[in-house]
Amino acid sequence: MDLHSGLPYWIIRNSLLDYFHPLEEDFSTDVAVIGSGITGALMAHELCRAGIECCVIDKRSIATGSSAASTALLQYEIDVPLCRMAAMIGEKNAVTAYRACLQSITDIKKVLEETGVNAGYEQLPSLFYASSPADNKLLKQEYEIREKHKLPVTLLKQKEVREQYHVEVSGNALVNESSAQMDAYRAATGLLAHNMKENGLNVFTHTDIKEYKETPDGCIMTTDKGHKIRCGYIIVAAGFEAGQFLPQEIMELTSTYALISHPVAPEHLWPTHCLIWETADPYLYIRTTDGNRIIIGGEDEKFSAPQRRDSLLRKKTRILEKKFGKLLPDIPFKTEMAWCGTFSTTKDGLPFIGNWPGKERLFFDLGYGGNGITFSMIGAQIICNQLQGIKDERSRVFGYERIGKYW
Ligand SMILES: Cc1cc2nc3c(=O)[nH]c(=O)nc-3n(C[C@H](O)[C@H](O)[C@H](O)COP(=O)(O)OP(=O)(O)OC[C@H]3O[C@@H](n4cnc5c(N)ncnc54)[C@H](O)[C@@H]3O)c2cc1C
Repeated sequence: MDLHSGLPYWIIRNSLLDYFHPLEEDFSTDVAVIGSGITGALMAHELCRAGIECCVIDKRSIATGSSAASTALLQYEIDVPLCRMAAMIGEKNAVTAYRACLQSITDIKKVLEETGVNAGYEQLPSLFYASSPADNKLLKQEYEIREKHKLPVTLLKQKEVREQYHVEVSGNALVNESSAQMDAYRAATGLLAHNMKENGLNVFTHTDIKEYKETPDGCIMTTDKGHKIRCGYIIVAAGFEAGQFLPQEIMELTSTYALISHPVAPEHLWPTHCLIWETADPYLYIRTTDGNRIIIGGEDEKFSAPQRRDSLLRKKTRILEKKFGKLLPDIPFKTEMAWCGTFSTTKDGLPFIGNWPGKERLFFDLGYGGNGITFSMIGAQIICNQLQGIKDERSRVFGYERIGKYW
């Protein structure tokens, strides 16, 4: 599947890695991770840290799947508001999911700091505005439940948003100071390079895993060239192409669009450079980069085929530019480039992390939804804990068991 089209900004900014290392013979390891995107990179890092022998396999060049197209806003706020998620999966589970996301933003920072990977990580406030005055009611409910559970949140009136952030909203907004942004391509490539150098991690690129089977004492995967990888456990971090390994379809593919501006004079940007997003579904979202560019994303729609997704890029770009102009009319904005991607959503907005019931040696680390990257961090920790026999409370919320309950 074409995961994105057009060249995403991050590949141009950082350049494409020339690392080419296909698997040319049979190979054995304790744990094999399929996928070298941000999920596979964080997973491999956690395993290396825990002293677990592992390798990473990818059919493409390193991290050139969805992670290269990602706009990489890091938020504890999930696509499904907490008040709605609580009604769907119970308040306790929903709060666990929100708290896990909050913690993962700091954990990603820690991982980047301890490995010395400069991935443009920046902690910033986030502004979540009501797309219309009618959504003020939802924001109030959302504010109350987050306050009740001591999640960082402030409710601002329309006038305060305009005065403090210069954003032309028509309703109220929720603000928190606990969000961040980064460059997911740089984070993934940097983490893999770090662990190859420091921990002898093997990364095999241009190696397509065609099939796997469980044996009584492990697993065997077969590559496109017919080589076998024998391992104790497989972790599928294959992003939105993981369907080939899943016993049942659990996700819905979505097409999404993003564009980046020419650099903007810093005095023209909005105060605090906060992340901006809204209550509408699909939502518009906006961030800056460390080079004072503006990224706008959104205009999601149900994915049918890459050709249809790509044919809409020009139209979607114009719509995103127009929406930005209404919200921040004083900013001189000129699009430098645009791209589209495919991502995936689940019914409850949560990822799938853990074993498929009955498949004890096959783990999935699938960070579906608009918070894919924060979910990747959580998934890496949960699976690493599970492999070491450490109980992790979060697995109850993100595991496959929930499919039977309300799916
Ligand atoms: C435009 C866009 C904007 C986004 N914005 C945000 C955002 O603001 N915040 C956020 O948190 N998330 C965002 N996301 C989602 C986020 O980017 C993804 O959740 C994340 O990048 C997924 O990472 P991954 O490593 O799981 O997948 P990928 O980066 O796609 O990596 C999976 C890898 O697996 C490999 N693979 C697949 N099948 C096989 C196989 N059979 N054999 C070998 N290798 C295989 C692929 O080649 C690929 O490189 C966005 C996504 C898009 C497209």
